[in-house]
Amino acid sequence: MKLTHIEHLGIAVKSLDEAIPFYENTLGLKCYAIEEVAEQKVRTAFFKVGQTKIELLEATDPESAIAKFIDKKGEGIQHVAFAVEGLQENLDELAAKGVRLIDAQPRKGAEGLNIAFVHPKSTFGVLTELCENPNK
Ligand code: ZN
Repeated sequence: MKLTHIEHLGIAVKSLDEAIPFYENTLGLKCYAIEEVAEQKVRTAFFKVGQTKIELLEATDPESAIAKFIDKKGEGIQHVAFAVEGLQENLDELAAKGVRLIDAQPRKGAEGLNIAFVHPKSTFGVLTELCENPNK
């Protein structure tokens, strides 16, 4: 495995319109992008803290994983994303070690990253995302 840094923290919120002003006005961060990822039924807002990002996630559909997360646990940290080098190789290595993967192959995430999720049952309860920047 080759994790290089925490790429972002994914935080489930009920409303981007309500959460963004807190991050901007109270925490003093700048929202530099808002993006809808139709495939995952979410709208995302991004902030940077050093090389790590905060990704706020708002459900666009009651069937979205974010809506289900908030129903069950309320707003809060929904996933941790690590930047990796060689996403497919890392996934193959995890699978070979018996780690339960949600995505055995990378898919497209926000910001043009290739991403894959590891099941929280294999990661002590933390939904874990691995990200690779294909333009690097
Ligand atoms: Zn994410």
